[in-house]
Amino acid sequence: MELTVFGNNATCPEADGACACYLVEAAGKKILLDMGNGSLTKLRKKIDLAELDLIVISHLHFDHFGDLFCAKYHLETRKAYGEDIPPIPLLIPALPQWAETELCTNDVFEVHTITDGFRFEAGDVKLEFVEMVHLIESYGVRITAEGKTLAYSGDTGICKGLYTVSAGADAFLCEATFADGKAEEGHHLSAQTAAATARDAGNSHLFLTHYHPDQSRMLLTAAMRFFPDTVLTQMEETYHL
Ligand SMILES: [Zn+2]
Repeated sequence: MELTVFGNNATCPEADGACACYLVEAAGKKILLDMGNGSLTKLRKKIDLAELDLIVISHLHFDHFGDLFCAKYHLETRKAYGEDIPPIPLLIPALPQWAETELCTNDVFEVHTITDGFRFEAGDVKLEFVEMVHLIESYGVRITAEGKTLAYSGDTGICKGLYTVSAGADAFLCEATFADGKAEEGHHLSAQTAAATARDAGNSHLFLTHYHPDQSRMLLTAAMRFFPDTVLTQMEETYHL
């Protein structure tokens, strides 16, 4: 299983950066987790969007799904010019009417609505969703293939789902919006909480994401007190699990 990072900025893309976007390649499948603002400019250097086997959107904040709309325009234009591109399965929380109007036309996506406990299989890759606590409906996901499990937190505050999604996973891709504990109860996590969770969940690897680059040294120092092998994800870097 390979994890490549095409966006790791919290909230707003930095200059030459991008918000949440991760490509998971396993068992011959290409699975994209989130498509935040700025991520398409990075992702398209590596793959043709039509190659994606599955797109997962954790929640409907624009730093996690803003670029999905441009991806849709790109794919529907190619289809209109005669290219045969089968609908790409899209796993996403329930859409408001305006977003449904934008995304659910021209057979670009095959939409499946995520709920707590929702499961999906893409070939030999199994996905299971866990509801988290955030400002809006938000999901974490466990992805299992090739004998490995990768857990992704999405955006979350401290909640029961955080422990459910990470328990026993080989690797945990976890948000670390804060360098200290402020506001993390129902909103986002600190690097310390991400690292303590990985330690308690028995994870072998912790990848911190959704962070503010100007805090990176502080985040890493804080996390390493709980989880010494913490990795601060880097843009366009591939990690082998
Ligand atoms: Zn969010």
